Amino acid sequence: MSRNARPHLHGTELDALHAVLADGVFGHGPRTERFERELARFLGVADVVAVATGTAALHLALLAAGVGPGDEVVVPSQTFCATVQAVLATGAHPRFAEIDPDTLCVTAATVRAALGPRTRAVVPVLYGGRAVDLADLHELFDRRGITVVEDAAHAFGSHHGDRRVGGTGLLTCFSFDPVKNLTCGEGGAVVPRTPEDARRVRRLRGLAIDADHRDRARSTGYTVTGFGMRAHLPALNAALGLAQLAGFDLVADRRDRLWRAYRDRLGELALPDRVRLVDLDIDHTVPFHCVVRVPDRDRVFHCLQARGIGVGVHYPPNHLQPAFADWHTPLPVTEATGVEILSLPLHPALTVDDVDTVVTALHDVLRTTSGALP
Ligand SMILES: *Cc1c(COP(=O)(O)O)cnc(C)c1O
Repeated sequence: MSRNARPHLHGTELDALHAVLADGVFGHGPRTERFERELARFLGVADVVAVATGTAALHLALLAAGVGPGDEVVVPSQTFCATVQAVLATGAHPRFAEIDPDTLCVTAATVRAALGPRTRAVVPVLYGGRAVDLADLHELFDRRGITVVEDAAHAFGSHHGDRRVGGTGLLTCFSFDPVKNLTCGEGGAVVPRTPEDARRVRRLRGLAIDADHRDRARSTGYTVTGFGMRAHLPALNAALGLAQLAGFDLVADRRDRLWRAYRDRLGELALPDRVRLVDLDIDHTVPFHCVVRVPDRDRVFHCLQARGIGVGVHYPPNHLQPAFADWHTPLPVTEATGVEILSLPLHPALTVDDVDTVVTALHDVLRTTSGALP
């Protein structure tokens, strides 16, 4: 309970890592490619490209979509700063979009309002793991040459209708960092729309060297075909990912049960002006976190921390960050919810009793909190 998030080990990870250490291929290798095939099978798609981090996945997916200097990319301000940094890494600029206060996700209406003449891409963030439906805008996007790049860092395992997030035909990016639903230690993946997307992302992740690791071992040279980055997924991380993927159902099930327990206990409190749960569409979502909105959030945060409860804040809005001040635009909903959001501890080591303890403590603190949610 003192941790807001932590990775879950299935017990197979040490053997998996030992096997990589013993066979001596630590970098990109056959295990990375096996991880890509297993991810593709899990998602029900033809191909997945594994990369070093979720941030690199977003950066490379945007580059593969042709985004560069002079372009603008629509992103919510309510996201981890990595989403915005990935946009800047391409040379493009962000256009911050507003969110729905009930889900903290962008909607078709808020994205449409944020579009500009130079918008080349839109990055919906699947906040908390919830799928974002922009289908109403797809015709407009096609007409204007706008690509959707999903930031699905929170949403591994979630569904969009009856298809997995990542399996709906969009360019989708996952993170496998230490606290994500699936972890590689550090890692990420791009789900390409086409073989051409896949070819571009593979080229960009591997310094744009034209030969793969097998060819390079057997030849005296190689050709560097253009700009490229060092953003492959090492075999050590892929081995962790393979072990985690094999046990994913258990993690998904525990996260689901804990989120539902929070929902039920919070519902019993019946303090609608003091605590509101951010909705996740739980029937389709593997929850990444459990976020509530409370008045006087900073005080509630410190009181719960003092009781040893690992609450967090995901995230301080980006349009208010000094680094992104050039692209500031007023976002009243994001600014209002930004000072209310509080993430309760959610990770597979917790029990339903722990959820009771957290909600009881939250109730105690809220009873003595002045003010109410608007
Ligand atoms: C974690 C995260 C990222 C970045 O992923 P890394 O693997 O940590 O680079 C991007 N966007 C969101 C919303 C995230 O939560």
